[in-house]
Amino acid sequence: MVCTSVKEGYDCFFMSKKGCQFNGGTCHTVIEQCSGCENIKTFPTGDYCLIFPDPSVKWRTGNCNMATHLQETTTKRNVKINPLKASKRKSH
Ligand code: SF4
Repeated sequence: MVCTSVKEGYDCFFMSKKGCQFNGGTCHTVIEQCSGCENIKTFPTGDYCLIFPDPSVKWRTGNCNMATHLQETTTKRNVKINPLKASKRKSH
């Protein structure tokens, strides 16, 4: 349903006829680590992530997997994974 509270006008999974069903009844603002990410949108009530209702959860156990400002580290991680895949293919 389309959000009528914090992210007004945005279709959201947590919105229902009874209101926002997300933990706490509202989205949570972005945190310091999000700064620079393209998924941040400024609403009259503050800066929110367009993907995750609670950005702090995405950073609790490491980097957010949808962050757009961490391209460098994501690329490095892919480079590490690829040789593994290649060696698996060789052994078959
Ligand atoms: S995608 Fe991740 S880093 Fe970007 S604003 Fe959302 S929670 Fe923050």
